[in-house]
Amino acid sequence: MGGWKNYHTPATVEEAIDVLHGYDGRARVIGGGTDLLVETRRGLRRPYEAMVDVSRIAGLNTISQTDDGIVIGCGVTHTEIVNDERIMRHGQCLAESCSVIGGPQVRNVGTLAGNVAHALPAGDGTIGLLALRGEVEIAGASGRRWVPAKDTFIGPGKSVIDRHREVLTRMRFEPAGNGEGSAFHRVMRPQGLCLPIISMAARLKIDGGSITAASISMGPVGPVPWFAEPAAKALVGGPPSQERFEKAVAIVLANVTLRTSKYRATEEYRSAMIRTYLPLILAAAAERAGAAR
Ligand SMILES: Cc1cc2nc3c(=O)[nH]c(=O)nc-3n(C[C@H](O)[C@H](O)[C@H](O)COP(=O)(O)OP(=O)(O)OC[C@H]3O[C@@H](n4cnc5c(N)ncnc54)[C@H](O)[C@@H]3O)c2cc1C
Repeated sequence: MGGWKNYHTPATVEEAIDVLHGYDGRARVIGGGTDLLVETRRGLRRPYEAMVDVSRIAGLNTISQTDDGIVIGCGVTHTEIVNDERIMRHGQCLAESCSVIGGPQVRNVGTLAGNVAHALPAGDGTIGLLALRGEVEIAGASGRRWVPAKDTFIGPGKSVIDRHREVLTRMRFEPAGNGEGSAFHRVMRPQGLCLPIISMAARLKIDGGSITAASISMGPVGPVPWFAEPAAKALVGGPPSQERFEKAVAIVLANVTLRTSKYRATEEYRSAMIRTYLPLILAAAAERAGAAR
């Protein structure tokens, strides 16, 4: 194969950290391998001395609902997320975002943890998790810490998670309460290269006819998956009206730099897609929030 010499399948997080530590930066964490193996085979990455597979660690292949929220282990695949009734109920935008990733083969082995740890600006599952204000648990030699997912991205493919020494062990988000709903949509070219033109997700909480909490996430609109805080803030404090949604669109467009890309689309087309689809996603989230009353 040539991409690595040793392949480890640790049974516990502690064992995974010990093995990584032993290689002192010459080993790489691997989940489903749907990104990493493609990159390694294409020679985009230097060969590693070892791969440390964290997809089979006991207790991290499950989705659970605990006092900490809906908790997703790093071994959980996109297919498992899409098929989970609790995720559909409490984080529909995450289920929708994972459902568009690759084809069934990719979704059957690719993990949400790998999508987030890879830190690509257009990672679909990542955009879904961001709108839910998701958090990630990072385990390393000095222990474990929970961090907002939005704070882990530092550039295209660059993460605060040291993927040679640390493991993203779990992700979590607050279950939807009464009056909360979310939605995701991705615009793609119908044929040819499978690069997203724009992906977006939103979560709204509505109380007494007024939006009381909102979040919007989007990509690719810059070097990292974007948590659109200013636009989301502008939604709060009034009814879920078309006028209010259009105000949020204007704030989004004022805050992003949409590049023209021959593989994606022109800047004008990508802005038009935000103008068209963001109000629709917000309306869908509002409708679902109404249904969850
Ligand atoms: C044909 C094809 C189509 C695809 N389509 C899409 C698409 O439509 N949308 C999309 O978003 N993605 C797509 N992908 C990319 C990929 O499938 C996803 O990003 C997937 O979620 C990656 O998960 P994985 O478990 O396979 O990660 P891996 O390939 O195992 O790892 C990806 C990166 O994350 C690191 N990593 C993995 N798990 C952990 C962990 N627990 N802790 C720390 N670091 C970790 C690895 O070191 C590596 O840097 C596609 C890939 C292929 C091959």
